[in-house]
Amino acid sequence: MQAILSIIRNACLTLRALVSEISATKQCFDALLSRVSTLALPVPNPSNAFWQQYPPFPDLVNCQSQQLPGTADILIVGSGISGASVAYTALKQAHSHAHPQPPPRVVVLEARSICSGATGRNGGHIKCSAYLEYASLKARFGKERAKALLEFQLSHMPILLDLIQRNEELKCAEAREVQSVDTFTDEKTWVKTKRTVEEFRRDVPDLAGDVVIHEGVDACTEFGVDPQHCYGIITYKAATLWPYRFVTALYSSLLSAHPELISLEANTPATEIRVNPEDSERPFTVQTPPGEQFQQGTSSTPPTPSQRTLSPA
Ligand SMILES: Cc1cc2nc3c(=O)[nH]c(=O)nc-3n(C[C@H](O)[C@H](O)[C@H](O)COP(=O)(O)OP(=O)(O)OC[C@H]3O[C@@H](n4cnc5c(N)ncnc54)[C@H](O)[C@@H]3O)c2cc1C
Repeated sequence: MQAILSIIRNACLTLRALVSEISATKQCFDALLSRVSTLALPVPNPSNAFWQQYPPFPDLVNCQSQQLPGTADILIVGSGISGASVAYTALKQAHSHAHPQPPPRVVVLEARSICSGATGRNGGHIKCSAYLEYASLKARFGKERAKALLEFQLSHMPILLDLIQRNEELKCAEAREVQSVDTFTDEKTWVKTKRTVEEFRRDVPDLAGDVVIHEGVDACTEFGVDPQHCYGIITYKAATLWPYRFVTALYSSLLSAHPELISLEANTPATEIRVNPEDSERPFTVQTPPGEQFQQGTSSTPPTPSQRTLSPA
């Protein structure tokens, strides 16, 4: 009888712990959902990151149009690397022979100074640890999909390096190829990682050519690692650049090449985005403190000057 009571008591305690764990997890999840679905502006007084000091384009830091454009074909919220990439691609595609289109009018709204978010706060590794990611991608998506995903990730490095190499105005980004050195400080992880590399080499040899396994005291000495704390090292190709300089140089070159097509609006937060279901000409309205910005749908004719220079509502 005593034993049965004890089993029931333990079962109740386990159940209570489980319910409490589920309830705590739900609270965290609800809080996360609420945070991601609420428009939260960046803090107004960010720390001054090393990477943003001595900006190569001082005029860009707080640049604004004299008058906020009232309309845009493409309105980008945020002037980090994502925004720069969209602006660059939109303007480049409009001028490419493969996709001849009327050029879009692009407006970038930035809540603080240009490129003051995550992009302006890091030292810019361009690095894909394909050998590490392969096993989990293969388990989730299968061999072919895993390979395609890694090919996509790995393609960023040569594309970025080539873009910067070909454009004198982007060279201040100091992009260069480097060797990534991953060190392993516990034996179990090292043994498992070597198996992972073997599988990667076997399945997708064309992506694994630069991955090298190093072991032993000599290898540790070569890479300046204490052999007492290092079981092995994996090296592979990577690159680095100065993201703040890259992005601001890209904006500067777009502004020089297409002053009539792109404007950067620093210190202009988007405070609300409304959908206008009835208005096919202006499907979205974006609210900013000084006025309103309208984003138009894709139009088959070039925007007329009056469309581009409408005063804020
Ligand atoms: C410390 C650190 C180190 C990192 N290291 C690397 C690395 O080595 N390699 C790598 O690839 N990645 C790295 N990352 C990640 C990388 O920086 C980010 O993934 C990338 O910069 C995101 O770019 P983004 O343009 O999407 O965002 P952001 O650069 O953050 O740009 C978003 C911009 O939007 C603005 N904004 C936000 N809300 C509004 C609004 N309502 N209205 C107007 N503007 C708004 C913000 O002010 C900000 O300027 C690092 C990140 C950090 C923080």
